[in-house]
Amino acid sequence: MAAVYLVTGGGRGIGAAVARLAAKQGAAVGVNYVANASAAQAVVDEIIDQGGKAIAIQGDMAIEADIISLFDQCEAALGPVTVLVNNAGVLDQEGSLEDFSAERITRIVELNVTGALICAREAVRRMSTKAGGNGGSIVNISSMAATLGSGGVYVDYAASKGAIDSLTIGLAREVAQQAIRVNGVRPGIIDTDIHASGGNPSRAIDLAHTVPMGRAGRPEEIAEAVIWLASDKASYVTGSTINVSGGR
Ligand code: NAP
Repeated sequence: MAAVYLVTGGGRGIGAAVARLAAKQGAAVGVNYVANASAAQAVVDEIIDQGGKAIAIQGDMAIEADIISLFDQCEAALGPVTVLVNNAGVLDQEGSLEDFSAERITRIVELNVTGALICAREAVRRMSTKAGGNGGSIVNISSMAATLGSGGVYVDYAASKGAIDSLTIGLAREVAQQAIRVNGVRPGIIDTDIHASGGNPSRAIDLAHTVPMGRAGRPEEIAEAVIWLASDKASYVTGSTINVSGGR
């Protein structure tokens, strides 16, 4: 049976690369977006043009009702979700914690942590063999920031990704006998739009020299790890988070 991927924040950057690669390997893909409908639709159109199956679905992954509706819509259009890629995430302007407002911190945690937890919960409820599901796989997109801490840049974001790493370990153990594997990927500095939202659009180029391999990564290089972790080739892998960071 073909895999059904649900990629949160799948319209741009890493999520879009995951959606494209999953479709190339025969999966049907639910491409979630929050605001940029045309980017998500372009990913979907590309997949359909190449003979694949995909649908763009709007929803704010910081809102529980939107998350439940996203799963419902994806299931109705493509069948039961077999792979959740918990990818939607944000950061904010670079700075020091002492200057960060409560609103900013809350916004980051609500999407990167609370939303990711609720997405994972929703996937478990539907995939678990305990509840009559067919099992599946969850891949959480963390960050090297979780291990580096991002001091002086965005410790709030780094802390939110630390929470993702804990989620991966804990949930993997919790559902290991319910035919669900839970893993993560820690991207290093990847060339996407996210750096513009941190106020530094050229960050991936500017910091390339700090990466042992001497360059930023491409979203497609993250997608390869995600697809492997989600696939049966990783059938004995759960609770693992892979660094894809050029040695950073
Ligand atoms: P990006 O290019 O900024 O894309 C972010 C995607 O997330 C967009 O599709 C956006 O949707 C979506 N999104 C944002 N807020 C959302 C919300 N509330 N609900 C649903 N979707 C939402 O980011 P990226 O670099 O690909 O990052 C993807 C993931 O990788 C994030 O979790 C990020 O923390 C992680 N990561 C990135 C890097 C890096 O260097 N790029 C490094 C480590 C980890 P719209 O298109 O509708 O705006």
